[in-house]
Amino acid sequence: MKMRYFDHAATTRVKKEVLDKMFPYFVEQYGNPSSLYKLGRIARVGVEEARKNVANLINCDRNEIIFTSGGTESDNTALKGIMHLEKNKGKHMITTKIEHPAILHTCERLEEEGYQITYLNVNKEGIIELEELNNAIRKDTVLLSIMFANNEIGSIQPIERIGEIANKRGIIFHTDAVQACGNVEIDVKKMKIDMLSLSGHKIGAPKGIGALYVNKSIEFKKFIDGGHQERDKRAGTENVPGMIGLGEACKIAKENMEEHIKQLTELRDEYISRIKDEIVDIQINGSMEKRLPGNSNISFKGVNGNELLMKLDERGICASAGSACSSGSGSPSHVLTAIGLPSEYAEGTLRVTLGEDNTKEDINYLVESLTEIIKEIRTSE
Ligand SMILES: *Cc1c(COP(=O)(O)O)cnc(C)c1O
Repeated sequence: MKMRYFDHAATTRVKKEVLDKMFPYFVEQYGNPSSLYKLGRIARVGVEEARKNVANLINCDRNEIIFTSGGTESDNTALKGIMHLEKNKGKHMITTKIEHPAILHTCERLEEEGYQITYLNVNKEGIIELEELNNAIRKDTVLLSIMFANNEIGSIQPIERIGEIANKRGIIFHTDAVQACGNVEIDVKKMKIDMLSLSGHKIGAPKGIGALYVNKSIEFKKFIDGGHQERDKRAGTENVPGMIGLGEACKIAKENMEEHIKQLTELRDEYISRIKDEIVDIQINGSMEKRLPGNSNISFKGVNGNELLMKLDERGICASAGSACSSGSGSPSHVLTAIGLPSEYAEGTLRVTLGEDNTKEDINYLVESLTEIIKEIRTSE
């Protein structure tokens, strides 16, 4: 049976061009970038070129990019780094109720350490209210961390306006842009973003590589002790092939952005409109305008999400429930709770996230399968 992959928010296939670019750095240009001889210098030049490509995707300086092991490490590092650094100035930060666990669980840890955190609500579309943000800012607020785009419902926050507020009030602004990178235009200068997390495996590079952008005005402390790698911030011999891969994926993402957005938006809109035509008692979650191009999140009333996923799996379809993290736990995801979705809908939620490999034929197969499966589940109850 043919496998059909509709879970690009969970991870993506490594692009062939990315793998081709990485390969020589495993077997030929395997030098340590810290070594002074030619083999080392070649690796170092490769890493710096990759850094430049990552920087170009978000319009920052090459020197403002620190490679990490992925989105989770970037998020942890940004939040803990700033709160510890600024603790004499203030111990309050602001985030939202719909962040990825990499942010939310880091916040829990910070609360245990005595920091105070405000979690902003979102409206029905999964977007924060700027007035609530303004009111949440205190004298001792030092950090604002708001995700660029949500991994479950795809909602995109008004990042430029948030950046303006943070800048005006003298607060450091971090954004988890793991889902947004490569899917939305990002300009950290224009959007007044001070720190940004991104991850390789969501954009066609391997798992285990990511980056953190830190604006040069921030005196970020070294967070892994050891040698002097990564501009003396994150010690340890570089994951050279991973960095090369991330650089290449960022370069491709920048070149293909417009076409990529157009292709995914068209497919997604077709999927959503056909589901609306074919199936009753559904709820489309998130915003239709402020939404990631490849994201759809639909709840089917009176349907068990896990049963739905299993039946899709039997037909070779890879998709996700409301959230990978709450699957099996039986409780609806924190994001669906935050947008106020009633539980008879939330329990039957399907996230379909598209990528460049998906075709119209895939969408046909998905819609036909879903229509049959939902009917089957609903009549058996
Ligand atoms: C996937 C994801 C992460 C985690 O990134 P990893 O590289 O898997 O650690 C963080 N935030 C968001 C929004 C994500 O989608």
